[in-house]
Amino acid sequence: MSTIFSQIVEGEIPARIVYEDETTIAFLDANQLAPGHTLVIPKDEYERLNDVPEDIATDLYATIHRMVPAVEEAVDADATTVAFNNGEDAGQEVPHVHCHIVPRFEGDGGGPIHAMFGGPADLEDDELDDIADEIESRS
Ligand code: 5GP
Repeated sequence: MSTIFSQIVEGEIPARIVYEDETTIAFLDANQLAPGHTLVIPKDEYERLNDVPEDIATDLYATIHRMVPAVEEAVDADATTVAFNNGEDAGQEVPHVHCHIVPRFEGDGGGPIHAMFGGPADLEDDELDDIADEIESRS
């Protein structure tokens, strides 16, 4: 069964589409966290960022790069929070990779993404060295 976002791509359900090209599309989120909250997706269905092929990832970033200033200017935002909930345990509800562009305004109280966590994880230097090595070996 196709995702709700594939149904938007196919025109089967309505959306306020603000940009579209061959491989990507951007539309307003149905639940606006702030005025102008926009989602950018690849048209093809990939569940997570990890699943997106490199050429589509390049296209996706190009559309994000285009849409961030467009959204900011359209609603006269001071900044934006640009984020992916990448996987169910990170809060992803729609299994079709999507980038949230959320306009931010001085004093809106939203805080930085750091506010999702109580504070920095308690890690020793040798643990950090091991983690860095593990990541580097997979990069
Ligand atoms: P997630 O939690 O998966 O990162 O975010 C999914 C987002 O999709 C939510 O912000 C939700 O408001 C939005 N959304 C869910 N269904 C629809 C829909 O049918 N149309 C639009 N435009 N947005 C949707």
